[in-house]
Amino acid sequence: MILDIVSYPDPLLKLACSPVDEISEEIRALVADMFETMYASLGVGLAAPQVGCPLRIVVMNPVQKDSPPAPRVFVNPVLEPGGEQILSEQEGCLSVPLNYRADVLRYSTVFVTARDVDGNGIAETLSGFPAVVLQHEVDHLNGVLFIDHISHLRRSLYDSKVKKWLSRKDTA
Ligand code: ZN
Repeated sequence: MILDIVSYPDPLLKLACSPVDEISEEIRALVADMFETMYASLGVGLAAPQVGCPLRIVVMNPVQKDSPPAPRVFVNPVLEPGGEQILSEQEGCLSVPLNYRADVLRYSTVFVTARDVDGNGIAETLSGFPAVVLQHEVDHLNGVLFIDHISHLRRSLYDSKVKKWLSRKDTA
């Protein structure tokens, strides 16, 4: 089932999400719906709060251009960033309206511990684009959006655009 995606400035996106206690049938169904929603929106990653569930679950398919699909699920992910800081160019987000994009500093590698959707432990190092996507998604679990990482000036310009867009939407 394709779920509705929560959009900024919805306060749901500011919540710190709770860990998943048990990977139940309901959680597995949510994960399947999250994948369907992400693919339908042509996204490369999606966090549970983006579909209104304040739980620590991330799905992603961090592929670029013609590379084969590489779907991943991380339940209760914990990240240890490493490597150097790199510029994630033109980052965007399914929850950030007006197709806004900006360059964001991320780490080049992350060591992640988590569970997969079958409850198996994950402990591995990701690097490059998958590492960047996972940092973006885990930020969501902590109520952080990529626009929280940009300069105050850029952010206020963006916020005024969103305000205008929302007021036009309300009167339409
Ligand atoms: Zn996002």
